[in-house]
Amino acid sequence: MGKMSTAPHRFHTAIHWFRRDLRLHDNPALHAASRAAECVLPVYVVSAWRRQHGWTSAVRQEFLCGCLEELARSLATIGSRLIFRTAERADEALAALLVETGAQAIFFHRDPDPYGIAMEEKVAAMARRHGAEAFGYKDTALHERDELLNGSDRPYRVYGPYARAWAKLEKPAPVPGIRRLLAPPIDVPSEPAPTLAHWQLAPSGADTVAPGERAARARLTRFIEKHLLGYRVAREVPADEASSRLSQDLRWGLLSIREVVARCHELLAGEGSAALDATARESVGKFLGELAWRDFAMQLLFHFPEVLATEFNPAMRGLPWRGWRKNDAAGAADLRRWQAGETGFPLVDAGLRQLRATGFMHNRVRIVVAMFLTKDLRLHWRAGERFFSQRLVDGEIANNNMNWQWCAGTGADAAPYFRIQNPWTQSARHDPHGDYIRRWLPELRDVPAAKLHAPPAGPRERLAPNYPLPMVEHGAAREETLAMFQQHLQEQRQK
Ligand SMILES: Cc1cc2nc3c(=O)[nH]c(=O)nc-3n(C[C@H](O)[C@H](O)[C@H](O)COP(=O)(O)OP(=O)(O)OC[C@H]3O[C@@H](n4cnc5c(N)ncnc54)[C@H](O)[C@@H]3O)c2cc1C
Repeated sequence: MGKMSTAPHRFHTAIHWFRRDLRLHDNPALHAASRAAECVLPVYVVSAWRRQHGWTSAVRQEFLCGCLEELARSLATIGSRLIFRTAERADEALAALLVETGAQAIFFHRDPDPYGIAMEEKVAAMARRHGAEAFGYKDTALHERDELLNGSDRPYRVYGPYARAWAKLEKPAPVPGIRRLLAPPIDVPSEPAPTLAHWQLAPSGADTVAPGERAARARLTRFIEKHLLGYRVAREVPADEASSRLSQDLRWGLLSIREVVARCHELLAGEGSAALDATARESVGKFLGELAWRDFAMQLLFHFPEVLATEFNPAMRGLPWRGWRKNDAAGAADLRRWQAGETGFPLVDAGLRQLRATGFMHNRVRIVVAMFLTKDLRLHWRAGERFFSQRLVDGEIANNNMNWQWCAGTGADAAPYFRIQNPWTQSARHDPHGDYIRRWLPELRDVPAAKLHAPPAGPRERLAPNYPLPMVEHGAAREETLAMFQQHLQEQRQK
């Protein structure tokens, strides 16, 4: 990012631009601003779009509003006030604030995605024009950008070696929380905290986890105390709800990734660690490995931003996916059935209904649902990527893209295209008693588990009167998908 200095100076007033770091504890940029300036003006720039948005929807905005409300309250308790400004572009809102307040610096955290990075560059240029300085800090990832390169100084494309190198790097330590923040002596006008009405959205009706920093920290403690030591096995059982459920907290920065890792390391090396058996240690290691996947996704997007527009693997570009081009009515209808959770495959439908009801879906089920979309329905992974990013409260541009491309077989280190999961087998393996399925599909409440994991023998054998028959036959769909990939790859070779 151009010439953005990171050494703090002494300022009278600095702006802290809150982005995806909606917390006061371990907030490096806010901490640095509070050290470098006498007065700090915390600002959140509210986006100006209305009604429809390709990458978000009511459930995410509701969650965001809850987080912002709490952040504003927390700032008030330390003598500060969160300023809200609506703008098409953050740099415009920040420019107005520089002029109004005479602030000499803007502090913020760097973003891993190309849109965020482009905005940071605009903000830095704008600050220079106003004679102010801009300071960008690392926060979202543990290791970002060029911090981790392979032996040839190139970005890693494969997770295994990346994760091994990642594990060896010293992890950044948390910074102290902010106890007091002096506001500028002038009255800076603020809009009210946004509500759904701001974007002309109706309530989603979804029952999400509680928003805000306080609830996120309680989730972290609960996970560490209750589930972390059994994570390796329990994470694969959707009915157990034993994964951390911290993804939205990491997405919106309600938790600091450094604190999460520090708590794990404390467990492994601190008092009482001698009592941990090998399984418990493996579980903590597995959990840290998932956090490495998160960093991996962010560094992939940083180095290969083209993945937002096309397949990571050039050989997989131009596949004739369904449901993406205009005038593909059959594809569009299949996509709607999948989105509604009416495919007739209980585990797939349960996942999509969980998503609708809570803004979350279990990881194992996400994989099944995504593989079903791409490999059974042959619908474009981008349709799934878009739907997830609109509906998942944890929807995260880098993670979502990498995982969709992984499932589609087009991505970095992806599942090979010919390894096509059988959704019935997955269902029997990960929800053997059907508890997860029945939780989200009450119409199947009375169906015995064995019947949930196999297609009905015929149209008269429906699982329930109001539950659809499977929309495809898996074996036939698998053959068609293999043929699609093989023909495409053959055409590529002939080019
Ligand atoms: C098709 C698909 C789309 C996905 N989209 C997203 C998304 O938009 N946002 C998102 O945060 N995760 C996404 N994931 C990854 C994963 O499903 C979620 O992070 C996880 O289910 C969140 O639940 P948890 O916090 O209980 O996870 P845990 O199992 O407790 O994992 C801890 C943390 O590690 C990170 N993590 C876990 N798995 C992955 C992974 N495969 N890739 C990257 N990071 C991971 C998350 O930050 C998570 O909170 C997607 C996975 C698939 C298959």
